Amino acid sequence: MYDVIIIGAGPAGLTSALYLKRANKKVLVLEAKSYGGQIVNANRIENYPGIELISGFDFATNLYNQVKKLDTEIRYEMVLRIEEDKTVVTNKDKYQTKSIIIATGAENRKLNIKKEDYFVGKGVSYCATCDGNFYKNKMVAVNGGGNTAIEDALYLADIAKEVYLIHRRDEFRAEDKLIAELKKKKNVTFILNATIISLNGKKRIESITINNNNKKQTLKVDGLFIAVGQEPKNEIFNNIVDLDDKGYIISLDGVHTKASHVYVAGDARVKGLRQLTTAVSDGSIAAVTAIKELNSKD
Ligand code: NAP
Repeated sequence: MYDVIIIGAGPAGLTSALYLKRANKKVLVLEAKSYGGQIVNANRIENYPGIELISGFDFATNLYNQVKKLDTEIRYEMVLRIEEDKTVVTNKDKYQTKSIIIATGAENRKLNIKKEDYFVGKGVSYCATCDGNFYKNKMVAVNGGGNTAIEDALYLADIAKEVYLIHRRDEFRAEDKLIAELKKKKNVTFILNATIISLNGKKRIESITINNNNKKQTLKVDGLFIAVGQEPKNEIFNNIVDLDDKGYIISLDGVHTKASHVYVAGDARVKGLRQLTTAVSDGSIAAVTAIKELNSKD
């Protein structure tokens, strides 16, 4: 019997693990893919207090190593469901626990246009830092107007021949500082009030057609980086927690769910600001709350 099972090894889940292991709790972290969550895709983190500049991959790896040094048990299994008695069922096994922290984060939102899935790995990517190097001196487009899209475009501008930054509005969610930096790049063209309507090509993507201010335009590109935000993946938990209309877990105080000893941390929950800072904050609060409530239960 575990004290706490943490679902998700992103910044929120790993931070919970760090606090719980330091409090000598029996912990299991379950992760479906690989450690680090979305932050692994961030080329540069410049707004984490106390760290001037670090890559998302380095941040995640440092945190992972810190947690592993505490002999934390991390298993790469996909959670299928949580049963009423807090049995966590994965694709490989079943685990009993006294409490659970759901820290499943969110995954890349798709454009949901024809051939998007077919072109993944053939020109379509959701991670510039992972795939950017394939586009040396090539033409690429980035779609989105948030921090991820602008950071992706900045990263790609130093690799690719030209970068089109396509955004559906003429205002950005991204920080002004990043936009100002991108505007300085000579090989970046901003295409605003524009949406992608088709992906064209046979074996690989060859061009994209956009609706540019109500005019159809086709751009030759070798790669398209889609950075249009994230979506949660919490449907499997809806037997024990409440979800909002977008699928985020509802927590009235930001840590408890409606089920006792089931907590939520990080991007998976309804919240106003999804950042690395708020993810690690959630992770620590969830862990300390679980510890307190475990101790009062024992
Ligand atoms: P985001 O801030 O949600 O931005 C998503 C962007 O995609 C928005 O510009 C949105 O347009 C656009 N979009 C959404 N759906 C679309 C669709 N179907 N078609 C076309 N465009 C669409 O997502 P994000 O940039 O991935 O950032 C997620 C969170 O992580 C944010 O809180 C961000 O600040 C944070 N983040 C932080 C850092 C950092 O601190 N270094 C780095 C990366 C991300 P509208 O604006 O019109 O809605």
